[in-house]
This record gives sequence, structure tokens and C-alpha cells, in this order.
Amino acid sequence: MSFERILGQGQAKHILGQALSRDRLSHAYLFYGPESVGKKLLAIEFAKALNCLSPGTEDACGTCDSCRKIDHRVHPDFFFLEPTLSTPTAREPAIKIDDIRELQKKLGFLPYQGQTKVAVIDQAEKMNLQACNAFLKTLEEPPSATILILTTSNINQLLPTMISRCQGIKFNPLPPEAIREILLSRGEETMDPAEVDVRVGRSQGQVSRALGDEATQTASYRPEMIRLIDQVSFRRMDLLFQWSKARAKGSEPLSPILEEMLGLIRDMAFIRSGGSPGQLFNRDLLAELEPVARTKPLSVLLEMADAVYRTQNALSGNANRQLALETLLLDFCEAA
Ligand SMILES: [Zn+2]
Repeated sequence: MSFERILGQGQAKHILGQALSRDRLSHAYLFYGPESVGKKLLAIEFAKALNCLSPGTEDACGTCDSCRKIDHRVHPDFFFLEPTLSTPTAREPAIKIDDIRELQKKLGFLPYQGQTKVAVIDQAEKMNLQACNAFLKTLEEPPSATILILTTSNINQLLPTMISRCQGIKFNPLPPEAIREILLSRGEETMDPAEVDVRVGRSQGQVSRALGDEATQTASYRPEMIRLIDQVSFRRMDLLFQWSKARAKGSEPLSPILEEMLGLIRDMAFIRSGGSPGQLFNRDLLAELEPVARTKPLSVLLEMADAVYRTQNALSGNANRQLALETLLLDFCEAA
């Protein structure tokens, strides 16, 4: 019943449902896949199923006292950790060692009310190194009657020792119908059908991208980025420095902008290989994308996409923003 509330992710739901019905549960799970596709929601539904007072064979009832307490995060055997800003001026939210120690203390007791203590660690890649080391001890010697669920949209940033101690459950981008259903169910009925189409197309199967205002903000940079992809070259270094400086100076995170860039390059490669316009992420900008796509060989576009991946990795490791963007555009010049 309660798993049905989550759209898509049939395989993940099936694996967890089977584990529940056969009572063959792992001590630790790692839910991994793109951002905003239901990992956290399914982790919470799974926690409910593990403690439900009148469960179905493969999931929770969703309405009993225990289910409701988990929904409201007041169940004494349900723990939820997510990254927080340590100080108001800290740039990146993190999960710190104190958070892990506090969790370990709570997991040391027997289940208070339910059958199983469940700890969800959302965005587990945001644990700093000290926190990771502390948490590894819990993974190595899991407390009794406890199930740990880690979620991450960036599995490459987790320690291999951590990954190897969890059962991995893969999450996929949501299908367009699911994104459409979510857009329409969130009181967006007044949205112009054309806008729904554009949002579905640009979502890349991620709910936050479909809904978010930040999505509309970074979306406004797209025409500028198409011009940049079109024009940047060793002869137009002025564009390179101008754009890098402007984007690096702002306080907004660069990762959505880079995602946007990747989407544009992907669409150009798609046009170039004769794909149907209906499948473009940015189908509203077809008229702008098409002429640029025609001038770029596929191999160049693939090299550009690689350069964006490298920049994303560099920035996740605290690289200097402006330098990282300049390097990206230099790589574009070289590819072209
Ligand atoms: Zn229940």
C-alpha cells in the first residue's frame, strides 16, 4: 500500500518488498541514483514497513500509529540524519562527527516502541572524513535490531569501504509520465500545458528539476550558454573570461548551471545524431540549438560533455570556482 505512493522505481520497490515478505533483510542499504527521484521517500516508507502495526505482505499500512509517527518524525525508533550548515557562514552543509556520535548513542539502546530501529542518513556523501570513519564502525558492527539506510546521488564520493558494507539499491530517473503526474498533483493545474511539457522535458526525470524555481532561474541562462558553446574559441578568449568571472562571482551554486550546460550539449549531440525533437530536454529552445548543433561534430560535443563532468568533479572537491570554469571553457576551445 504505502510503496504505491512513490511513482516509478519499480525495481527498488520490488527488491525491498521481497526482502520484507521473506524476512531477509540486510543490516545496511545504500539507495543510490540521481537527485530527487524518490530515494528519501522510499527510505521512509521502508522504515514504516519495518515498524508497521498492521503491515501488508510487502509494505506498510501507512495509517497506523507507528506509520504516522514515522511520517511526523516523532517515532522513538526512527532516526533521520541529513547535512546541516555548521555555522551560518559555512558554505556547504555537512554531516559531522557529533551527529554520528549522537546517532550511535541512540542506536545503542533496544527498540523502544517498534520492532526495528531504522536510521536514514540522507545525502550520505556529505559526511566529512571524521564522520565517515566514526560511521564505518557502526557499519562494521551493526547494533542489534537496527537497519541503516544511506542515500546518495553521488556514489563516487563515498568511501569504498562504506559502499561494500551496504546492499546497493539503484534508483533511476523517473519516466516522463511520472513527472507529469507529480507536476499536476502539486496544484500546478493552472500551469499552461506547454509549460508542463517544457518542465517534463527539462526535468531529466528528477522532480526537483521539474518543480523548482531554481530550475527556472538556471533555465534563464540557457540562451547565453548556447551562444557560449557556439562562439567560444581561442580567438574569443574575452568571452571565456567574461562568462567565468560573472558566474564564479555570484553566490549561487554552480552545479545546477553545469547540469544545464550538460543538458544543452546532450541535446545538441541528440540533434546531431538525428534524434526526434520530442525527446530533447530543452525542446523549447530547438530553434537556437539546431544551428549550433549543425556546426559541431559529435566527437567535439562528447569531449565537451567530458569536460563538464571533470569540472563537476573538481568543484565537488573544493576547486576554485573561477579557475574551474576557465579550465572548462579552455577545454571547450581545445575540443572545437
Ligand atoms: Zn502502519
